[in-house]
Amino acid sequence: MARKKEYLKEMGIDVWRDKSRLSDVNVTAKIADFHNLADIRKQVVACKLCDLHKTRTNIVFGVGNENAKIMFIGEAPGANEDLKGEPFVGRAGMLLNSMLRSIGLERTDVYIANILKCRPPNNRDPLPQEVKLCTPYLQMQIALIQPKILIAVGRIAAQFLLNTMESMSKLRGNTYQYGEQKIPLIVTYHPAYLLRSPSEKRKSYVDFLLIKKMVG
Ligand code: URA
Repeated sequence: MARKKEYLKEMGIDVWRDKSRLSDVNVTAKIADFHNLADIRKQVVACKLCDLHKTRTNIVFGVGNENAKIMFIGEAPGANEDLKGEPFVGRAGMLLNSMLRSIGLERTDVYIANILKCRPPNNRDPLPQEVKLCTPYLQMQIALIQPKILIAVGRIAAQFLLNTMESMSKLRGNTYQYGEQKIPLIVTYHPAYLLRSPSEKRKSYVDFLLIKKMVG
């Protein structure tokens, strides 16, 4: 308990309350004909479907436990991720790690990926066409990992995954279903947003408690 409090303190959280409720949204996913993540990764390394390949340093495929029950999905790599070839590194990534620890998990217990595998120049929002071309890679990752729960990290990821323009305040706190497998999906704040708005961290902790509850 003392340790948990320490993590919460690190996240800037002192008080919280549970406001979760349930509702459903369906999004269709394609199950692809790939047998392992390494095969898909090779495809992404060679991918030139959109112009982002021209400006990337590295593809950012995904990281973590390939048998994870929990899969986090962000929008796209930023500068640090592009340099390192790994999602959620840098300050936002460190905060994500702390949030995971607050529910007793390490980064290596979960799988972390983005919708886009290449960095949009100047961290602009992903274009719908880029998302359309890149989403099959994500769908293949999901199909192979078979997580018990998906976490959309931030507004952009949530809006693309759920095919909606709803605001974060409407999207958070609900459980959706993703794809034909109807994988439960919840939405949480992007850690970069939490770094800018630390007072929202307590809501984020509620989301993480819900994740823990849902995977048991
Ligand atoms: N933001 C994201 O959505 N993904 C990353 O990997 C880094 C920052």
